[in-house]
Amino acid sequence: MSSGKNGESGKYDFSFKMIVIGDAGVGKSCLTNRASKNKYTSDYSPTVGFEFLTFTTNVDNKLVKLQIWDTCGQEAYRSLIKNFYRNASLAIVVYSVENLQSFNDIDIWLKQVKTFGASSCKIFLIGNKIDTDEREVSTEMGIKCKNDFFFDCFMETSAK
Ligand code: GDP
Ligand code: MG
Repeated sequence: MSSGKNGESGKYDFSFKMIVIGDAGVGKSCLTNRASKNKYTSDYSPTVGFEFLTFTTNVDNKLVKLQIWDTCGQEAYRSLIKNFYRNASLAIVVYSVENLQSFNDIDIWLKQVKTFGASSCKIFLIGNKIDTDEREVSTEMGIKCKNDFFFDCFMETSAK
């Protein structure tokens, strides 16, 4: 977290870095775009392997700027992983409820957060694509995973 002003993005009281991780195709970019759709500046940087979006929201009369770091082909840029995780206040691990493999891979992503992220980093679990009929991961499985791995929060979503 940092606080203060940013000349380019205007004034804000707090700024948090949030990273979105999970298997390819689970909907990370769709969720990111959905969340920042109304107000965001996009700085697409294909050469460095991640996309950077920001949006500002009001919480208890304080302006909070969220910087969302979305990966694109992070696997190909392993040397940048440390940069990606550095100073993140919140990590969102996304799986798709229609893809059991993406659910089974959660522990890989969790391990990466624990390895490269700050110990204070909050970690949320998100099961995306609940609009689909073809479920491979039940809500109960998600809740059990949240409890077993001590995620700070669990939610099921649809970016669609
Ligand atoms: P990423 O690789 O994790 O960034 O995944 P994307 O955001 O690119 O999404 C991958 C695919 O899943 C795209 O074809 C999206 O249209 C689809 N998708 C993403 N979110 C949802 C959702 O909530 N519901 C459904 N049905 N499809 C989704
Ligand atoms: Mg993506």
